[in-house]
Amino acid sequence: MSAALAAVETFAAEGRDDAVVALVSKVYPMRSHTVAAEGGAAGVVPGGADTAEQHVADTLRGGAGLGHDDAVRFVVDRAPAELARLERLGMPWSRTADGDPAVRRFGGMTNPRTWFAADKTGFHLLHTLFQTTLREPSIRRYDEHVVLDLLLSDAPSSDAPSSGASRPSSGAGSQSPADASRAARGVVAYDQQRGEPVTILAAAVVLATGGYARAWGTSTNAGIVTGDGLSMALRAGLPLRDLEMVQVHPTCLPGSGILITEAARGEGGVLVDAAGERYLADYGLGPVTPVGEPAARQMELGPRDKLSQAFWHADRAGRTIPTRDGGVVHLDLRHLGKAVIDERLPLVAGLARRFGGVDPVREPIPVRPAAHYTMGGIVTTAHGQVLDAAGAPVAGLFAAGECASTGLHGANRLGSNSLVETLVVGRAAGTLAAAPSSPSEPLSSSGPPSTAARPASSAPPSSAVPSSQSQDPGEAALVDRARARAEHWLAMRGRGTESPAEIRRELGTVLDAEVGIFRDADGLARAAATLEDLHARYQDVRVADTAAVFNTDWSQVLELGAMLAVARGAVAAAIGRTESRGAHQRLDHPHTDDVARHSLVTLDAAGAVEVRWQPVDAAVSAAAAATPGKDHR
Ligand SMILES: Cc1cc2nc3c(=O)[nH]c(=O)nc-3n(C[C@H](O)[C@H](O)[C@H](O)COP(=O)(O)OP(=O)(O)OC[C@H]3O[C@@H](n4cnc5c(N)ncnc54)[C@H](O)[C@@H]3O)c2cc1C
Repeated sequence: MSAALAAVETFAAEGRDDAVVALVSKVYPMRSHTVAAEGGAAGVVPGGADTAEQHVADTLRGGAGLGHDDAVRFVVDRAPAELARLERLGMPWSRTADGDPAVRRFGGMTNPRTWFAADKTGFHLLHTLFQTTLREPSIRRYDEHVVLDLLLSDAPSSDAPSSGASRPSSGAGSQSPADASRAARGVVAYDQQRGEPVTILAAAVVLATGGYARAWGTSTNAGIVTGDGLSMALRAGLPLRDLEMVQVHPTCLPGSGILITEAARGEGGVLVDAAGERYLADYGLGPVTPVGEPAARQMELGPRDKLSQAFWHADRAGRTIPTRDGGVVHLDLRHLGKAVIDERLPLVAGLARRFGGVDPVREPIPVRPAAHYTMGGIVTTAHGQVLDAAGAPVAGLFAAGECASTGLHGANRLGSNSLVETLVVGRAAGTLAAAPSSPSEPLSSSGPPSTAARPASSAPPSSAVPSSQSQDPGEAALVDRARARAEHWLAMRGRGTESPAEIRRELGTVLDAEVGIFRDADGLARAAATLEDLHARYQDVRVADTAAVFNTDWSQVLELGAMLAVARGAVAAAIGRTESRGAHQRLDHPHTDDVARHSLVTLDAAGAVEVRWQPVDAAVSAAAAATPGKDHR
């Protein structure tokens, strides 16, 4: 939504009255997963003790060598202005008694810098952006449209879901499938309400499809966070970076995985084991801080990965409390008192009562870790420009938010850095996408040249995208390709024998068991074998429902395919990363390599997973070279 608004602002500044932005979402936009974000968004409050330099340093430290200095500075420098701008659009930030934005501490921060709206920050942020888009007539909404594929000129035609073993490899010298001539031309989607495929041709596409942490069985993410955009990029021959970097949040409700935000610890909540002891001190997070007086980067406010690792050790040492959903520790907020809990943590209190069965004013909350945030994503510059496997920009293609790997988070995201990333990078991507100098020329023959996006053709009830009536051979070929892609996916309906629910269950179970807080070669090999088996079974997956309208059987199978594709990449990269760094901890390789390298996952022509390794310095140079203008910071 940030990207859409930025594009509209760019159009307005240039007097392009007839330009249109298509906002496409598989759910009603207010159901996007951002609505669930609780704790807040990071940004230095001007005039306070905190500094941009410190925000940069904390973020790079958290990123454990995989963060890009330029990308971090880009977001940090623009964060305060984006957060203030959001307020002008209606965001109700919590305030101090003096009227300044109230900020709280999150893990890994030297100074408090997380702006918040109680513990419903994502809800208010999404609402603010959404209601602003409603005021813009040039933003056309395509709600409940599932995007099936990207349309790129010269895109490879191979289907990802073919057979082929995962083949991790190493060495930066591998062949790349780069094709610098490719450009984004739109998307092919499916209108769930009308039961029709739709081709949306566009001069530029911004992917903001979210992460992939729902692939794990125990996850804080909603059911829609299934890596769709990443799997589309992979099918289009584009690389995905650092897929193995999956953040496990230390404090979630057992069973459901519902998040109890880090803000609860930022406000002074403490973690205790079965014996009531502040166990974190025994796992390198001490010295113990006084109860209710959290201190920077210590104990409960240590980095998330360290807290999850401490839980893992405590669990194995028999220090957790057994439940039917595994061992738990207690998050104790009682000393904060009812008034603070009601004012600062009302959502946490409600979740604990409704889904945890405890009242945090009177009882501690049982918590254990769950998959939470995926650092891996589509390779982009700090501005969200997508790069291909050779590091060249793909004209007119952008990605922002959790689906992108800009270099901000590195190997481990600091809490509250991601909401602000969606604002800053979304705006940058939208501005570039709308710029007349955008490398992607608008489609020439149908519609005015300044039309950034327009609904192209709707299909007849026969469920195929019709052939183009256009006289432009390029556009006609694109629409024909869109029709072929839609038919490919639609052909899954009413076919198959393999239970999608069973594939889904096995996927979540194996990722929880083998690709969690700690990994090793044997476990990852088991995960890879299971995923290849699931991938093979997916080729014959059953879609019982043949309905055209709101066929959730089918759309969930599409999401399952995306999760499988991304999970295969994540496991292959985890096998190849024989070191411990950030969110990727190997029991059999506890050291950290001297040279920090990114993993780059692509698919070969047969659909097998390939992994290449790229030194971080080379990735930073590629991003800088692909960034227009002198001051790319
Ligand atoms: C419980 C929880 C709490 C969090 N709290 C915080 C916090 O306090 N601070 C913070 O900084 N971060 C937080 N995060 C992380 C942060 O919320 C996310 O990283 C961020 O909201 C992701 O935003 P996004 O715009 O990238 O994706 P999303 O908000 O997930 O939106 C993705 C959009 O893409 C659409 N989409 C996806 N696939 C398709 C498709 N195939 N076709 C059509 N549309 C599609 C969806 O419909 C949706 O509209 C939290 C995460 C969780 C899980």
